[in-house]
Amino acid sequence: MLVKVALPLPIPALTYSVPSEIVQHVRVGTPVIVPLRKKMQIAFVLELNVSLDGDFKVQDIHGLAEEYPSLSRDHVDFLVWLSKYYHYPVGALIQSALPPHPELEVEKIFSVAQNPDDFPDEKKRALQLRGGKRWGLLQWLFENGPTASIEAQHKSTLQSLIKSELVQVSMRAKEIELKTSTTKSESPNLQEAQLNAVAKIGTALEKNSFTCFLLEGVTGSGKTEVYLHAAQRALASGGGVIVLVPEIALTPQLFHRFQSRLQEPIALLHSGLSDRERSRQWQLLQSGRVRIALGARSTILAPVKDLRLIVVDEEHEGAFKQEDRFRYNARDAAILRAKLGNATIVLGSATPSLESYLQVKSGRYALLRLENRVTAHPLPAVEIVDQKKSTMTGLLTRELIYEIGLMLKEQKQTMLLLNRRGLASHIHCESCGFVPECTNCSVSLTLYGIARELRCHYCGYSQKQIRVCPKCGSEKMESGSPGTEALEKTAQECFPEARVLRIDRDSMSAKNSLEDALTSIARGEVDIIIGTQMIAKGHDFPNVGLVGVVNADASFSFPDFRSSERSFQLFTQMAGRAGRGDFVGKVLLQTYQPEHPSVQFSAKHDFRSFAEQELRQRHSFQYPPYTRLARILVSDASDARARSLAEAIAKDLLNYDQDGVIVLGPAPSLLQKLQNRFRWNIILKSKDTSALNAVLKTTLKRWNHKIGASASLSVDVDPSSLF
Ligand code: ADP
Ligand code: ZN
Ligand code: ZN
Repeated sequence: MLVKVALPLPIPALTYSVPSEIVQHVRVGTPVIVPLRKKMQIAFVLELNVSLDGDFKVQDIHGLAEEYPSLSRDHVDFLVWLSKYYHYPVGALIQSALPPHPELEVEKIFSVAQNPDDFPDEKKRALQLRGGKRWGLLQWLFENGPTASIEAQHKSTLQSLIKSELVQVSMRAKEIELKTSTTKSESPNLQEAQLNAVAKIGTALEKNSFTCFLLEGVTGSGKTEVYLHAAQRALASGGGVIVLVPEIALTPQLFHRFQSRLQEPIALLHSGLSDRERSRQWQLLQSGRVRIALGARSTILAPVKDLRLIVVDEEHEGAFKQEDRFRYNARDAAILRAKLGNATIVLGSATPSLESYLQVKSGRYALLRLENRVTAHPLPAVEIVDQKKSTMTGLLTRELIYEIGLMLKEQKQTMLLLNRRGLASHIHCESCGFVPECTNCSVSLTLYGIARELRCHYCGYSQKQIRVCPKCGSEKMESGSPGTEALEKTAQECFPEARVLRIDRDSMSAKNSLEDALTSIARGEVDIIIGTQMIAKGHDFPNVGLVGVVNADASFSFPDFRSSERSFQLFTQMAGRAGRGDFVGKVLLQTYQPEHPSVQFSAKHDFRSFAEQELRQRHSFQYPPYTRLARILVSDASDARARSLAEAIAKDLLNYDQDGVIVLGPAPSLLQKLQNRFRWNIILKSKDTSALNAVLKTTLKRWNHKIGASASLSVDVDPSSLF
C-alpha cells in the first residue's frame, strides 16, 4: 500500500510504501519513521491507498514510531484543511501544532515473576540471610504486583535483587498527575437573556450538527457565565471543549473561573509553557483524561477528544491572527474545526467583527444578545473633547486635567490610553529635515528620554541620542509626536502628588512586572495609569472612575481599511474600563476629528449603527467582508530583485485572467525594509473563494522553484492589514 505522509518540515506531503508487516497498524494519523535524505524522520500518515502520478521510486516506511501519540482522523482532516486554506505546507503546520518533544515520560516498573515461596530451600535460606531484607522485599513485591514506587530505604536491596535477576525491570509511560481546583464556585441565578442563550446553545449541542452563535454583549453583561453553562452541558453529554482567548495575560483569570466552576482538570495552553509541559498537556488531552483546553490562539490546534463546543472570547481581536510563518486566524480556524466536527461554536464580543456581524445578518450565524450589564450600573458617560478648541498642556486638554483632578480628590483611579511608546515618535533636524532611521528597517527611530536612546521597534536596534545633525551639523534636533514616556512626565508635572504608573512594552519588560503592576493597581497603590493598548484588555479594576483616550486620531488615522473598526473596538473597550465598581464611570475622548464615526458611535455605545455605516463603506469599496483578500509577499535582501520578482509574478497573475480575481500591485510594503530585507506586496481580491484559492495555488506552485536563493515568497490569506 502507498500512503501519503507529512513530515514536520516545511515541505509538501510525500508518498511512501508500507511494508506488509506493519500494514495492519497503519491508519490516518499514525506516526511512522521514514527515510528522507539518508536520515530517519518522524512523519504522520495523512492518506491511505494513494496512487502515484508519475514514475518515481518509492521508499519503504521504516517502521512505526510507537513512542509518539497518534493523531485522530478528525484532527488530521482539520490540519490538512487548514494547510490547504492558508497555503501552508502541511508538514510545517503539524510541526507548529505538535509539541516539540512529544516524548512520553517513562518510569521503571519492578516485578517478581515467581512466587518466592516456591524457590528451592537453599535459595530461600540464602535470601533470608543478613536480616532477611532481600527476602522481605521479594515477598512484598510478589504480593503487591508490579510497581514503580519503592521506598528509598529499600533501594540498595532492590539493586542487588535486580543484579541477581530475581526482580525484573520494565518501562512504562508515567501517569501524569492531574490538577483540579481546590475551591468551588457556584453559579449565580442566570438572568433571562442568559438563560435564553444557554438554552439555545444547549439545543444546538444536542443536535450534533454545526451551529455558530454570535454572543453579543457589553463587558459585564454576563457572557462568561454563558460560556460556563454551555461548557457544563457539553461536558455532561461526554464532549470535549475548547476555549480561546486573545491574550495570554487574560488566561489565568479565566482558567481559575472555569476550573473552580467545572471542577474538572483543564489544559492551559500558551506560548509561555515549557516544551515538557506542553507535551504533557497534549498527552492528557489526547488520552481523554482532560477534556477541556483553554488558551491563546494555538489552542485551536490541540487534540481535544470528541470536541463538542468551542468558545471564542473577544472574537473580534486581531491577536487571533498569527502574523508570521503559518498566518492563520484562530477564530476562523475554530469555525472550520466546528464545521468539520459537527460541533457548536460560540463567538463572544461586545464589538463583534464585521465579518461575524454580516454572517448574522445573512442568517448563517445565530445571534444571542445580552443587552444589559448584570450589575445594574449603567455604561459610563462618554464626553468628546475637541482638541482644536481646547488649551493643551503637553498631551492633556484642560478638560481632561480637570477630570483627573476630581478623581484624585475622590481617591479614584484614572486610566490614560496613548498608543505610542517612548518620549517621541522620532526626532528630526529643524534645518535640513533629516530623520534618523533604523539601519536595518525603513522606519524612523523612537526617542527614549530616560535611556537617552533612539530605538527601532521592529528589530531592537538602538543608538545613542543625537544632539547634532549628522547631515548638516545643526544643533536643532526637534522631537516628533510625544509618546507614553512624555505623557507620564506631563501627568507627573500637573499632579506632583499623584502616584503615576506607566504600562507599555518598555516599562514591562521583566517577566512578572505586568502582573506586579496589575496587583498594585488592584490594591489602590496607583492613582494614574498610563499605557498603550496593553491596558485596554479585560482587566477588571473596580476603582477606575475615569478613562482618557489621549489621542484618538492616532488610531483611526492609520492608513488601513480596518482602522475605523479597530478604533471603534478600542474606544469601546477602553470605555468598558471605567466604572466597574459601585459608581458610574466617565470617559473622555480627545480628538481633532470629533465627528469621526469611530468616535461618535463608541461615545454612544452604539455598535449597530457603527457596524451598519462601516459595512456601507466596505461595500462601496469592495473590501471584506464583502470580498476576500489575499496577499502575496515577496522579500529579498536586494530591493531591485524583490521588486522585479514581484512585478514578474503580478504580470503572470494577469495572464491567468481568472474570472473575478482582481490583482493589485505590486507595491512596496508600508515597512518596505524590515531587518535588512525588502518587502513587496501583491494583493488579490475576489468574491469567489475557490477562484482565489486556485490562483494562489497555481502561483505558488509555478514560482516557488523559480525565486532564487535569497528571495522568499509567502501567502497571507485573509490578511488583517494590507501591509
Ligand atoms: P462578561 O463576560 O460579559 O464580561 P461576566 O460573565 O464576567 O460578563 O459577568 C460579569 C460579572 O457579573 C461577574 O462577576 C459575574 O460573576 C457576574 N454575573 C454574571 N451573571 C450573573 C447573574 N446572572 N447574577 C449575578 N451575577 C452575575
Ligand atoms: Zn540637519
Ligand atoms: Zn529596525
